[in-house]
This record gives sequence, C-alpha cells and structure tokens, in this order.
Amino acid sequence: MTAIPLTLGRPAPGGYSAAGPLVDAHGRTHRDLRISLTDRCSLRCAYCMPEQGNTWLARPSILTTTEIARVAAVAASVGIGAFRLTGGEPLLRRDLAEVVAALSGLRGPDGPVEVAMTTNGIGLADRLDELIDAGLRRVNISIDTLNPDRFAALTRRDRLDEVLAGIAAAARSGLRPLKLNAVAIRGVNDDELCDLVAFAVAHGAQLRFIEQMPLDAGHTWDRGAMVTRAEILDALSSRWGLTPAPGRGGAPAERWLLDGGPAAVGVIASVTAPFCGDCDRLRLTADGQLRNCLFATGEFNLLPVLRPISGEVSEAAIEETLRRCVWAKLPGHAIDDPSFLQPERGMNAIGG
Ligand code: SAM
Ligand code: SF4
Repeated sequence: MTAIPLTLGRPAPGGYSAAGPLVDAHGRTHRDLRISLTDRCSLRCAYCMPEQGNTWLARPSILTTTEIARVAAVAASVGIGAFRLTGGEPLLRRDLAEVVAALSGLRGPDGPVEVAMTTNGIGLADRLDELIDAGLRRVNISIDTLNPDRFAALTRRDRLDEVLAGIAAAARSGLRPLKLNAVAIRGVNDDELCDLVAFAVAHGAQLRFIEQMPLDAGHTWDRGAMVTRAEILDALSSRWGLTPAPGRGGAPAERWLLDGGPAAVGVIASVTAPFCGDCDRLRLTADGQLRNCLFATGEFNLLPVLRPISGEVSEAAIEETLRRCVWAKLPGHAIDDPSFLQPERGMNAIGG
C-alpha cells in the first residue's frame, strides 16, 4: 500500500485522505468521472446488451439533472477535471443539453472542467449545435463496421445511416480531437480494420480499437475468441507503417502514427495490456452508484446521500462517498485471474 503524502491532508478514519484530490490506496489520483445518463439504448450491440429480456434500471432511481450536477460540483472541487457523459445511449436523455450546461460551468482547482460524450451517434446530427452551445467540447462515436448488413446483425438494428450522419455532423463541427471507437470482433469486423481506420482519417478523426471485454449482459465473453492488440497491429501494419506516438499519460489508448503521422490510430488493450497502474477514472451509474472500476463487483450508493429521508443533501457526505469509493479501488481488474468475476451489470448499465 502506498503511503499518503502529507500534502494530501489528514487521513480519515476509513484510511482515505479527508482533503486534497481523490487518491486511492495505491497512490493513483483520480481526475476523470464517467457519468452514465441512462441504461437504455437505441442499439443492441451483441457485446454489450442482450437482444431481449433486459432488466432496466427502475425509472425513479435514475438521477435527475440537479442530482448529477450536485455530484459533479463536489467531484470538481476535489480535482475531477474531465467529465464524460455515456450510457447506455446518452442522446436518449431529453435533458442532455441541460446536463452538459450544468457540468460545463464548473471549475476545479486546476481551472474549468472539460465535458465530453461517448455516443453511438444516432440523433447526434440534430442535437450537436445545441450541445456545443451548452459547453460540450469533445465527442467519441462508436462504429464497428461500415457494412450495413453486418451493422444490422451486430447491433440488431438497421441504423448504420443514422450513425454515419452523426459522424458527418461531428466531422463538420469544430469538436476536436474527434475519436471513433470500434470493438474488434473475430468473424464480424476483423477483415475491415484497415477500412475503419481509413474512414476515420477521411473524416479528420482518430480510430480507436477496443479489445472486447467481459462486460456483455449475456456473459458470453470468450477470451480465446477475442481479437487481441497484437492481431490488430498486425492487420494495420499491412497498410501503414506504425510508429508509437509519445505522450500517452493516463489515457486508455496506446497510439501509433500512420506512416509517420499526423494521422494516428489507437488501441485500448484492456485485456492483453491492461493500464490499471495509470487509471484515473471513476464512474457514476445512471441510478446513482459510484464505481471505482469497470470491473468492480461492489458499488458505493449515492442515492441515500442525494435523497435523504430527512434534512438537506450534504455536500460533505457526497465527498465522503467519493473518497471511500476511490480509496477502495483494487490495483487491477484481474481479468486473467481464475477468481475473476464478471460484474453483474452489463456495459450499458455501467457506462463505458
Ligand atoms: N452508447 C454509447 C456508445 O456506444 O458509444 C456509449 C455507451 S457504450 C457502453 C461505450 C463504449 O463501450 C462503446 O464504444 C462500446 O463499443 C464499448 N463497449 C461496450 N461493450 C463493450 C465490451 N464488452 N467490450 C469492449 N467495449 C465495449
Ligand atoms: Fe448501446 Fe453503446 Fe451498448 Fe451499443 S455499445 S448497445 S450503442 S450502449
């Protein structure tokens, strides 16, 4: 266990520091909060959600804009400088622009915060101007295939055109860097990895491949079937010279310049090259549960703090829950450990 530097404040009874930034027991400072706005989605990607039989979060438990803003304000005050809105599909939230506006006005100890969003792009074209006006600064759009039949089979919805319209709108906007996410899946899109990269480059965007993780609601993940970082790089090397790009910091994606750059490609190799040692991320689910890892099996419930039976909401109690959650973070996700347990929530209910 890493000792807490004196500058981080006095340790609270639970072991965590009661002042300063959000530091876990292994010395990692947390600066990034992913906020899931809903578990609902306009698609049904096979690696994320079952086609039918979803157990949805109870509507009354979904955090309101005011509740989200309250948590975010406390988080910003203790050093969270980046907020990413996700889901489920964040564009399904009617009050999305209000959430963005509430967050984008926040300042932390290091200055104004940045608000970004991860989306499947469906409906983005119609709402992007409003979101940019509200303070949205970056967007990541997910697209796993450029083939309409494959898209319909993988997402169980025939809506590739709408995703493409969302990407086109984001490419026209001033939001940069623009990133496109693709989960590499054997037998589904592993023969179009280069085409996806070329598509991204043509839109002034950066493609980031994600290794498929055991987060599907159906619990059908198979490590042996996963397309690995090494296989992705091998495929891309057939078309481009790849040079490692410097300056990764705590970012999940390793980047390579394509033929010397400036265009680049990223790989998020959570399974074969985990980056837990540099992780600075924390998650808030749509129903008010704080999670210190995608793969956490435990959660820290903010609902009773945000909806006390009597009395006022206490910012101090929100901060204490944030600190307890961060402090309890394990050193790594241990996917490869035989004792690994997949979280009960699917990715759509955690927030990717
Ligand atoms: N609906 C939005 C979207 O698709 O971008 C935001 C939520 S989605 C859960 C966020 C990201 O998680 C997407 O890029 C998606 O591809 C990725 N994702 C979902 N399930 C995954 C899994 N089992 N393994 C790896 N990535 C996954
Ligand atoms: Fe929906 Fe995103 Fe999950 Fe696909 S990955 S089902 S778009 S939440």
